[in-house]
Amino acid sequence: MSWFKRTSAGIKTQRSQQNDIPEGQWVKCQGCSETITRRELERQLLVCSRCDYHFKMSPTGYFNLLFDGEYELFDENIISSDPLQFTDQKSYKDRLEATRKKTGLQDAAKAAVGEVGGYPISVSAMDFTFIGGSMGSVVGEIVARSIKRAYEKKIPALVITQSGGARMMEGALSLMQMAKTSAHLTKLSEAGLPFFVLLTNPTTGGVTASFAMLGDIHLAEPGALIGFAGPRVIRETMGQDLPEGFQTSEFLLEKGYIDRIVDRRKLKGELAHLLALFLSK
Ligand SMILES: [Zn+2]
Repeated sequence: MSWFKRTSAGIKTQRSQQNDIPEGQWVKCQGCSETITRRELERQLLVCSRCDYHFKMSPTGYFNLLFDGEYELFDENIISSDPLQFTDQKSYKDRLEATRKKTGLQDAAKAAVGEVGGYPISVSAMDFTFIGGSMGSVVGEIVARSIKRAYEKKIPALVITQSGGARMMEGALSLMQMAKTSAHLTKLSEAGLPFFVLLTNPTTGGVTASFAMLGDIHLAEPGALIGFAGPRVIRETMGQDLPEGFQTSEFLLEKGYIDRIVDRRKLKGELAHLLALFLSK
C-alpha cells in the first residue's frame, strides 16, 4: 500500500500552534503579549481581559460554560480502526495511541445533551489539541450522531467547530464524513429544528466545506480564522497579497458569511436568547 506512505516531509503544524496555552502558571497572550496568570485566564473563560484574545477552549470547557447544570455525554468510546494502515514517518496507529495518551481524549470531538437557558440542546464540539481537530471517521460519526440525537429527541443542535480540516490519514473515509453529517442536517431541517454553529479558531478545510457552513445561525468567536484553505496556501498559490483581515470572523461578518460575532463571556446568554426566539411558543 505504498500510496499511503508519504516519502517527503510535508507541512507540519508546530506544537505552539496546536495548543496556545503552554504549561505553567503564567501565560503569554498571543494577542497583546501581556503575561497573565493561568488562574486569571481561567476565570475569564480563557479570554485575555486586556485585548479580548480568545484562547482555544476544549469541548468540556464549552459544555461547562453553556449547560445550565448537569449534562449527559455520548459516544465517548468510538475509536478509529486505521483502515488504510497509513504511515508517514510514524504510523497513524502509533500517532493515535500517543495522542490519546497525551491528551486523555479518544479523538477530536465530544458530544453531550443538556439544557441551555432551560432549553434542551444536542451539542458536539471539536478539539484542536487532538491531531489539529482533524475530521476522520470518529469525529464525523460523533457529529453525525449528535445531529441524529437532536432530531430523534426533537431538540435543536449546536456544533462548535475547531479544525484543521479532513484527517488525511483516513483518506476518502475522512471526506465521506462531509456527506454523512450534511445528510443528517437535512433530516434535522426537515424536522423543523434549528441548527446553530459556533465557529472558533481555526475552522478550515472539510469542516468548513460541510456542517460548519450549513447552520441556520452562524456565530463566531472574535478573531477566529475561518476559511477553506489557509491564507498562506492561498497566498502562495495565487502569488498575490490577500486583503487585510482576510478569513477572520470580522471579515466574514462584513461579507455576510456569518450572522454574529459573540464574545465567549456572553455566549451562554446569546445562545439562550436565540433558543428562546426559535422555540418559545
Ligand atoms: Zn491579550
